[in-house]
Amino acid sequence: MRAAVVTGFDKPLEIKDLPVPEPGPGQVLVRIEASGLCHTDIHAARGDWPVKPQPPFTPGHEGVGIVEALGAGVTEHQVGDRVAVPWLGHACGTCDYCVTGWETLCEAQQNTGYSIDGGHAEYAVADARYVVGVPDGIDPAEAAPLTCAGVTTYKAIKVGGVVPGDRVAIFGVGGLGHLALQYARIFGGETIAVDVTEEKLSLAKQLGAAHVINAATTDPVAEIEKLGGADVAVVLAADPKVVEQAHSALRRGGRLILVSLPKDNVMALPIFQTVLKGIRVIGSIVGSRADLAEVFRLHAAGRTEVLYEPRPLEDINTAIEDVLAARVPARLVLMP
Ligand code: ZN
Ligand code: ZN
Repeated sequence: MRAAVVTGFDKPLEIKDLPVPEPGPGQVLVRIEASGLCHTDIHAARGDWPVKPQPPFTPGHEGVGIVEALGAGVTEHQVGDRVAVPWLGHACGTCDYCVTGWETLCEAQQNTGYSIDGGHAEYAVADARYVVGVPDGIDPAEAAPLTCAGVTTYKAIKVGGVVPGDRVAIFGVGGLGHLALQYARIFGGETIAVDVTEEKLSLAKQLGAAHVINAATTDPVAEIEKLGGADVAVVLAADPKVVEQAHSALRRGGRLILVSLPKDNVMALPIFQTVLKGIRVIGSIVGSRADLAEVFRLHAAGRTEVLYEPRPLEDINTAIEDVLAARVPARLVLMP
């Protein structure tokens, strides 16, 4: 099978011809139909974060495909099922986090495309308990971005406690932001899209954003204050300065939801305003299998729209360059 392999943090990915992996006990073999390219894949391939993956490995945690073989003891899925292989590739299933619906915080977790080989290949093996069934009628190329970008922003809106009438500011309208806006609306929020390009802002308008703010030409904090301040601000831009702006844009009782992981790991937030305004600062990491199932159900019901551009798997290095240069509309999906 062909697979995109990271052989070193300072090298482009190599398309290699590898043997099709065998599913072990409790695993499924998935023939990948579509695999979304997430910014995390780029950080993984370059070893940007404190905990580094071990080359050689295949990135990709938005792989969607058909179960082709079952390892011993698998009862959760059948051959022929369409499944998604998300970032949470494996968790212990028995710790406090796992048994209270917070499996995404399990300390024994393994991550797809990071500590275990991921979806940027023709086949992947995965823990049968952690792949999520994709309902009939969803295009696999649309299911792929929902598997990380979708569930991550859906969870961010959930942990932000968005209720009808809340003003929700989304900082960064891209692969994640275009979905965050839609989930904020589904939860009843009045949405504010903040970005630095007119193209992304017109996309936000098209998706129903109530307000759009160009942070390259105006001060987003002043503009959001004019609207009365935000109840919830979700930061999807990989820049600590944007986190600081989002904090300043909150009204009293506001919630600051951190999702993006900038290379520069430090932010400066004012303690005085945080305390006096009763602001909550919350980190949100992906979502559980149950969250992903909800994301798929919403999409199957026609409640969300996924914007993506397909690319051949072979073009992964060009695709990465295009993501880094912000030359892509929303999500790139690699087709093996
Ligand atoms: Zn991701
Ligand atoms: Zn656990």
